[in-house]
Amino acid sequence: SKAKLFDEKIDIKTTFKDVAGLEGAKEEVQEIVDFLKNPDKYTSLGGKIPKGALLVGPPGTGKTLLARAVAGEAKVPFFSLSGSDFVEMFVGVGASRVRDLFKQAKDKSPAIIFIDEIDAIGRARGKSNFSGSNDERENTLNQLLTEMDGFGTNTNVIVLAATNRADVLDKALMRAGRFDRQIYVDLPDVRERQEIFEVHLRPIKKDEGLDTDFLAKQTPGFSGADIANVCNEAALIAARGGKKSVGRQDFLDAVDRIVGGLEKKNKIMT
Ligand code: ATP
Repeated sequence: SKAKLFDEKIDIKTTFKDVAGLEGAKEEVQEIVDFLKNPDKYTSLGGKIPKGALLVGPPGTGKTLLARAVAGEAKVPFFSLSGSDFVEMFVGVGASRVRDLFKQAKDKSPAIIFIDEIDAIGRARGKSNFSGSNDERENTLNQLLTEMDGFGTNTNVIVLAATNRADVLDKALMRAGRFDRQIYVDLPDVRERQEIFEVHLRPIKKDEGLDTDFLAKQTPGFSGADIANVCNEAALIAARGGKKSVGRQDFLDAVDRIVGGLEKKNKIMT
């Protein structure tokens, strides 16, 4: 059914205050928020508003979160689609899905379109290790390029796409007037991990004086998604132990559990 083709949400609940760290990336996407809110101001001197930007970085670093926050800050609808959804698609469906997505976004503009895992459809032609039909993937990619070229400068739909493999993308995607801006979303450093802990500790009943600086130091290499996981796991561990609030040891146990999980995952991958 059409309803399952893609998600459309006016998600004004997610804003920049939900995105910890990533100061540089937030500054760059703030411009996109301004373009969406005030297009006439920017086009008044003959400039063209960018059509797309690529969010590049490792898994779980907040690319989807940041894209949602752009829509939330600008108070515009958020349409999203994941490249990996195309893997098992019948011939012709990918291209028509892209067409529908752009049509709906244009009808509701100003709007954000978000394409997660764009590498699943945007791999350089002829270099695919894509498991589905390669023709189908290329048709989908071509439709995406056609749509981006087709919308005029006054459409006011901005396409954000995420990938952790910018190097494998078809260069045609990065040409002027397409995804000609790249925004890096890196793993957090220790200070940013502390900020991420603070965001995810907001809804949690924690011991008074719980030291987030200590927690940040215990989690080198963790992504934002890993930290969100630690906070949730710690709350469950404390609840299982019948505690009234979550303490330092619960967090350490949660960190151990998540490190164990990550090691297992890496073993399977290698
Ligand atoms: P993937 O590449 O795996 O799709 P992603 O970069 O899109 O990952 P998100 O889906 O945005 O990552 O992150 C997953 C979750 O991790 C978020 O919903 C949020 O709870 C948490 N998270 C990640 N980064 C941050 C951050 N910088 N600040 C706060 N929370 C974060």
